Amino acid sequence: MPDVIELAEVARQYDSTGTTALGPVSLTVPAGEALAVTGPSGSGKSTLLNLIAGLDKPSSGSVTVAGERIDRLSERGLARFRRDRIGMVFQFFNLLDDLTVLDNVLMPAQLTGRAGRAATARGGELLEALGVARHAKAYPGRLSGGERQRVAVARALVNRPDLLLADEPTGALDTASGAEVRELLVELNRSGQTVVLVTHDLALAEACASRRLLLVDGRIAQDRRTATANSAAAVAR
Ligand code: ADP
Repeated sequence: MPDVIELAEVARQYDSTGTTALGPVSLTVPAGEALAVTGPSGSGKSTLLNLIAGLDKPSSGSVTVAGERIDRLSERGLARFRRDRIGMVFQFFNLLDDLTVLDNVLMPAQLTGRAGRAATARGGELLEALGVARHAKAYPGRLSGGERQRVAVARALVNRPDLLLADEPTGALDTASGAEVRELLVELNRSGQTVVLVTHDLALAEACASRRLLLVDGRIAQDRRTATANSAAAVAR
């Protein structure tokens, strides 16, 4: 399996405060893996996710994602990289309230100039697969938290990203909706999607991730592969 993520001696310092938010850390994530990043507040989880997403650049070291050295890209190159390669899901969904559910899902396709019949069909299929197709023409404000997160996942997947990044995807959900989104992430990973998630939700980390990284003070304190039901199923396939 090729590596989707390769970080080599990556560090991120903030000049203003002299804080080392992360590193140096080295990390490879092969295609198809589901990695959960855990750790106390301030341990560098968001910094790590932002570096992988191309939303931030390292102070030193190299960041290669989907075969591309993204730490060397211009702002424009990074925007293209994020659009084409990365799907992101956030704690508070980040849907646009004045667009319908389907238009929210199609937004990343529109940004790549791929809007059209094929994209609309893909958006519809994703909404169907995620169980929210009946809301396609509704506005996100009318949906429950769990439904909104499903829409956000559909939006993240519309451009078939190499990597799905999720930042506390169950953090704003009640127990039942959280369980639904957890199942959804497990299913996506089973179907081959590489996933990196930052979470405090141990049930999510346990159910979804075949590998768990613990960050403490910007360093990798633990990196464990776990034999979850998920990885057993993947091996059996
Ligand atoms: P986590 O996501 O685990 O809570 P972060 O990655 O947000 O941790 O932060 C790691 C460290 O970097 C913390 O000490 C935080 O205060 C610091 N930090 C994060 N962003 C900035 C910033 N923009 N300027 C200065 N320090 C920052």
